[in-house]
Order: sequence, then structure tokens, then C-alpha cells
Amino acid sequence: MPPVPHRDLTKSNAQFQRAVKKLPLGVASTFRYWGDDRTIYVHHGKGGRTWDIDGNPYVDYRLGYGPAILGYADDRVDAAARKGMEVGGVFALSTERELIVAERISKMVPAAELVRFSNSGTEAVMAALRLARAYTGREQYLLVEGGYHGLFDAAMWMANMDDWDLGSNTDPELVPYGKGIPPTVKQLAHITPMNDFQRLEDMFKRHGDKLAAMLIEPIQGNCCSIMAQPEYVRLARELCTKHGVMLIIDEVKSGFRVGKSGIQGIMGVTPDITTFAKAMANGYPISVVAGREEVMRTFRYGGASHGGTYTAHSVSLAAAEETLRILDETPALHTLANYGERLMDGISRILNARKIVHSYTGHPSMFGLFFAETPPDNYRAWKTSDYTFYDQMAYFLHDLGIICEPDSREPWFMCEAHGLDETCLTDTLKAVEAAVDLTLEHFENEAAE
Ligand code: PMP
Repeated sequence: MPPVPHRDLTKSNAQFQRAVKKLPLGVASTFRYWGDDRTIYVHHGKGGRTWDIDGNPYVDYRLGYGPAILGYADDRVDAAARKGMEVGGVFALSTERELIVAERISKMVPAAELVRFSNSGTEAVMAALRLARAYTGREQYLLVEGGYHGLFDAAMWMANMDDWDLGSNTDPELVPYGKGIPPTVKQLAHITPMNDFQRLEDMFKRHGDKLAAMLIEPIQGNCCSIMAQPEYVRLARELCTKHGVMLIIDEVKSGFRVGKSGIQGIMGVTPDITTFAKAMANGYPISVVAGREEVMRTFRYGGASHGGTYTAHSVSLAAAEETLRILDETPALHTLANYGERLMDGISRILNARKIVHSYTGHPSMFGLFFAETPPDNYRAWKTSDYTFYDQMAYFLHDLGIICEPDSREPWFMCEAHGLDETCLTDTLKAVEAAVDLTLEHFENEAAE
């Protein structure tokens, strides 16, 4: 049995004690708080690795929740961003590069006939929903259980799976993500379980003529990469067309990652509106709302409002131009997906040797690992997997130099740099083997107590 790993977090712990006096939970985003004595502060990242301020190295599979598609501090993208800096930032005017980037996006994603930029995933999806409402003249919208679309009131409703009884005949309750979200917003929201064809048809039968939009992540980047069946997304497409509802495919996480044209390209479904962010600029803040020309032309004076001071900032735009060029013209996406496949194979060898039942879902570039024979095909089925094993294993992995999300509902993300550095794979598999054994021992000890 490997010794329980010891990771020196003296400097991170001291930083936390100082930071918590000024920053709520000592961090800039709530999910970065991992406990008073386990919250780490980053010194820097390079390629597929991150170093904390104590000097501990990690192979990083969170990659900032997906943006670092090529790897941290990519020399090619950073050089482009420096050139973008020379342009001067933002002007409340347009630059030529906007068209260059928009043309690249349209070339890669056929549904993106017209393109507008925003700064974050949240902003892009907010604009997409506003656009759908403006175009249809309707207010209600449909969400899918397990989906996540950002931090704005309309999107912050979720199926409460933590308090839902597995096997019960009732639906999980629709609850807000935390406090501060007016309950009145809920009156406009509907939610349906993914891959339940009948429920989807019923939903459209009852509410179709009142819906402005259906929002779907066909690969649930915030729920273990659970996949929609392509036929389910095609049914959604048909029902949206029949009822005059805008199909919004949210590819903030999957876009320019699972393939050049995203999951919509793989599934062969054309949305009316689509959103991209994360991978499109290797971590520089920029996002996109794009879609059908007739719908997108609703962004006009007297139509739907869209804009923002920092929209199409010259640094982010230059980074996007170079990142998209690399993703479109080089084998980068293949390199990282191939790495993901080899990583899944390696993890399986370790788990199979210990007769631990498991499965994967999603795409090799962003996969979910489950301790269940078949992967869940919707959020309700996630409850049947042994996520407590995952959560404990993730805890040990952090100590052993691997960054993955502490919660099993976040997939593992690959970057090109992982695929170009064989030691990422060997270091990871060594750590996974140790973490699995420690987890087994942990649960054996717990059972014996
Ligand atoms: N949509 C999806 C599918 C996302 O994964 C996210 C972020 N995880 C968002 C929207 C919101 O993006 P951001 O955090 O950049 O606001």
C-alpha cells in the first residue's frame, strides 16, 4: 500500500489566512475554495501542468474548466496576444480583426452564419436567450436537467438531485443555484430530463407555443460529460422547428474542443443560435453568440440589445484568431483526443486489475469517469454511480499531484500540451494507481470502524 501522500501547502495555507480577510472564502470564484487548509494558490501554469506557490507541480485536468485547449501559456497564442495589446484594447469602435475571426468561426461551424462577440460564457448565453425572446416575442424557455448555462438569473435553476430519492416517482425539485435569485423567474422556466423522448414531446405539446427557446448542452460539460443521444437532439430540433422555438446549443465547453464544429457538427444538428467561449482563445476572455442570419439580424437598433464595453477586446480577439487558426489548421484536436483515449485506457487497466467496475462518457477530450457498469445517460442516472469513490479518489489525486475537479460532476479536460509530453501520462497513471489503492484502503477502514 502506498504511504499516505504528504503535500506541503504551508504557503498556500498562509495565503488563504491573509486572503480570507479581503476576499470572500479567500478566492475570486466560489468553486476555487477547496477548504481552509486545501485551497491552493497558483504560481503559474505551463503546458498541461500547474505549479502552486509552495512549488508543488500538478498535471492539470481542469484546465480552468476547459479554456486551455492548447495548454497554459502557449507561446504561439501569447505572441499573438502581445500583438493584440499593441492595437490598444477597446475603442467603442470596431476593428478589422472581428471579421477575420467571425469568418473563421463561420467556416468551422456552419450554423454560425452571423457572429457577435461577448466576454464570457454567461454573457454569450444571456445574449442568446435575449435574442431568442426578441425574435419569437415569447418569454418562457426550456432547460435540460444537468445542464449549466452560466451565472444569470434565468439560467440558475437546476434539478435538485442531491435531495432527490433515487427510484421515486416524483421529479426532482426545480431549485435556484443558491440565494439571491428571485422566485418569479422560475415561472418562465421549464426543465426536462435528458434523453427522455416522451417527456420532451409532452413538454412541447403542453408549452411549445409559449417557449422562446430550448437550451441544451448535448455533451453536459458541467455534469460529467453526460451525452445526449443524437436522436434526442434531432427530436429537439424537429420539435423546435414545429413550434417556432429557437434551439440554442450551448457549446461554451464543448465548442472547438470535441471537434472543429463542436458537438453539433458531430451530431449533425443545426441550432438556430449557438454559443462558444472557453477553448476559442486558449484562456483569453472572449465568447461568441452566433446563429442563423435572419435570427441574428434581430441584433439591431430597435431589436435586441447587444454590446458591452470590453466586447472584442484587441488582446482576446488576437488570441482567438491564433487559437482558432491552430485548431482549424493543425492536428491539435486530434493530439489531445488521442491523449484522452490513452489516459482512459491507462486508468481502465489500473481499475480492471482491481476488479473495479467503471465506465466513461463524453468525448476523449472531455470525459467523465464513473464507478458504474454503464455510464449515466441523464443526470438522474448519475445518482446510481458510486460518486463517493470518485470524490475520495480525487482528494488523494490532489495530494499526489493531479488536479481534477473534487466533484465527479466535472469532466477531465485534455489539452494539446498533454499529448506532446509523455511524462504527463506516466505521472498521471502512477498517481491514479496510488490514489485508487488509497481510496480502497480508506473505504475498507471506514467499513471496519
Ligand atoms: N455555458 C456552459 C455550457 C458552461 O460550461 C459555462 C461555464 N462553465 C457557461 C455557460 C458560463 O460561462 P462563464 O463561466 O464563462 O460565464
